[in-house]
Parts: sequence; C-alpha cells; structure tokens
Amino acid sequence: MAATGGSAVGARHLYVHLPFCRRRCAYCDFASEPLAAHQASGRVEPYLSRVREEIEAAGEILAPALETIYLGGGTPTALPRELLLPFVGVLAERLAPGGEFTVEANPETVDRLLLEELRAAGVNRLSLGIQSFSEELRCTLGRQVPQEAVNDAIETVTEVGWREWSLDLVYGIPGASLDDLLSDVERALSCGPAHISLYDLTYTDSFAARLRRRSGPQTRELAESAAEEHYAQVVDRLEEAGYRRYEVSNFALAGHESRHNQAYWRLEDYMGVGAAAVSTVGLRRWTNPRRVRAYLEARSPEAETLDERTKMIERAMLGLRTREGVLMAEVGLVLDEDGLARMREAGFAQVEEGYLRLGRRGLDLGNSVIADLLLLD
Ligand code: SF4
Repeated sequence: MAATGGSAVGARHLYVHLPFCRRRCAYCDFASEPLAAHQASGRVEPYLSRVREEIEAAGEILAPALETIYLGGGTPTALPRELLLPFVGVLAERLAPGGEFTVEANPETVDRLLLEELRAAGVNRLSLGIQSFSEELRCTLGRQVPQEAVNDAIETVTEVGWREWSLDLVYGIPGASLDDLLSDVERALSCGPAHISLYDLTYTDSFAARLRRRSGPQTRELAESAAEEHYAQVVDRLEEAGYRRYEVSNFALAGHESRHNQAYWRLEDYMGVGAAAVSTVGLRRWTNPRRVRAYLEARSPEAETLDERTKMIERAMLGLRTREGVLMAEVGLVLDEDGLARMREAGFAQVEEGYLRLGRRGLDLGNSVIADLLLLD
C-alpha cells in the first residue's frame, strides 16, 4: 500500500509473511501454500521482490529503524537458503540497534549451517514449531514431521547455542491425555528454551470434517473439554519451572518475552507485508490479499478505518489476555461497570495502580471473563 498516512514516527514493528510450506498440515489455519508448486511456476523470487517493494513503498508508515521484525509463515526456513539469507539480510538493515528479529522455523527445515547463517544475517530470535513431541499426535494433526527431524532440530538449536528461542506446542489435540500434554511440557522444559508458547488447537472446518470422518462425531467436543481441564495443571508446571505466563498462551523466563507479540497485544502501530498480512497504523487498517497469486498481481488490500471505540475494545480484548493488563484510563469507555464489579468479586479480575488485570483463574477462563468485562454491543 502506498504511503497514505500514519503517525509522524511510523510503525516500529514489522511482520513479514512468507506463505510457503513443504507440505500442508491438516489442521493449518494460516495462509500457507505448497512451496514446490510456486517454485515450479517461478513465483518465489517475484514474491520476495514484491515484499521488498511493499516495504520500500511504505515511506513514513514505517519507522526508519524498527524495534521488532517478525518473519512468519508458512515456514520461512523452507525457502532455499540462497533466497532466504539475502532476503533476511535486507530486512535486518531496517532493525534498530538492540532490536528483536524473530524467524519462525519448523524442525525438518533447520540445520546447523542455516541457524548459524541466520544469526550472522541479523536474526536473534527463533520460534520453533514442534506442536507435539508425540509422532502419533502430530499424525492426528496431519503434520508429517518425522521424530528424527524433531530430535535433530532441538539438538541443533542447543549445539549452536541459540539462547533466545521459543518452543511452540499445541494442546487440545484429539486423543491426547493429560499425561500426553504433561509429557510434551516436560520434554519442552528439558530442551531449555527461553520461551514456550502453548496454543489451543483451532479447529478449521476442514480439520473438524477430517476428524469426524476418522474418529466419529464427538471427538472434537471430548478433546475440547479435556483440554480445558488439563490446561490449568500445565500452567502450574510451567510457572513452577520459572516460565512466567505473560499472556494466556505464552510463557517466558524473565526478560525473554516476545517484544513483537507484546507490541501487538498493546495494539501499537505495526505494518504487515506479504500475502494475508494485516497492518494497523493509527485508525487505519489494511489486509493484503490472502493468496500468493493475488498478492503478486498487486491487487489492492482491503482497507478500513477503525473508530475509536472499536480500537478501544480491541485494545482491551488483547491487553486483558496479558499479565500486564490494560490501563483503566485507556479502556474506561468500554468497560461494563457491573461486569467489572462481578468479576472482581469473583476474584477473576483486579484493579491495581490504574491497571485492570485478570488474575490466574481469570486468565484460565480467558475470553468468557473478558466478554463480561466489556460493553461489546
Ligand atoms: S507448517 Fe505451519 S503454516 Fe505450514 S502448513 Fe503446517 S501449520 Fe500451516
């Protein structure tokens, strides 16, 4: 999108979407397309060029020196290194000193050389998508990553001495018991990442249909109710191991929180480039075309102007999912006073030094407590 507005300083956070994966996982809810088909059609290099053009055309929308860059997907590390590394190098030139540059990776796409080269190119944080250490549960997710690849990736990250990395898991996988989840978490802890994300499985329509075909109609409901029960125990275990829950699904050792995600939850201005990427700068929001081909055709993004109230609700909804909470003054106009009194009385929410925050139980219940706190209509 052309430089059509934004704050004087510009967004200090950049998300770059590379929507290519070696294989598509059955549960995938992201904008991702098979890499091989795009390589065969010669679209990968034009895609990277188009992303660079989008950044250059951003003008004052984007700050000259960025606080965070997040290269997500898709699987960025699935790209051939001769394409990925120069691209990463160009992005890194925009990073301010001390900035955070994260790259998402999947186990079967990393090796020692790549990790060292990424670091040399300016990447300083890695987000490794394990999802589960159980091959059987990954198979339920329709995620074809061999056990050996998982073990090798963990070993490589450790050997290379990558300190700032996140290990990403999914819970609520159909057929997973509490023991399975605890075993995933124990294994994650033994790998020593600085950060652990533990996301609730999202059931896309196609994944839910696949599940119904394979395991019967009630499997999803059973998995969801078990997941809620299991989660509280896992949170206890992670916190006991020193990983502070700083957002409903994210845990970090002190000082190792994802700065990029924190900026997003605080609804700071950010720019997203690449297919399906969303940008929010001031009250302007735009979303790029989801498919690679449409993005390459430079079709216009879908643009909207948010009103102050909508933005306040978004700020409250994102902020209340974090341990930090939200400043009452920032969201006062959308707070339901009666709901707030009820939630405080029940011990789910608290107000301290001008901040509204959810307590431990409130975070466990998440969105249902948040819905009670806000005037959503
Ligand atoms: S690796 Fe991630 S982005 Fe790619 S298909 Fe699987 S879930 Fe989707």
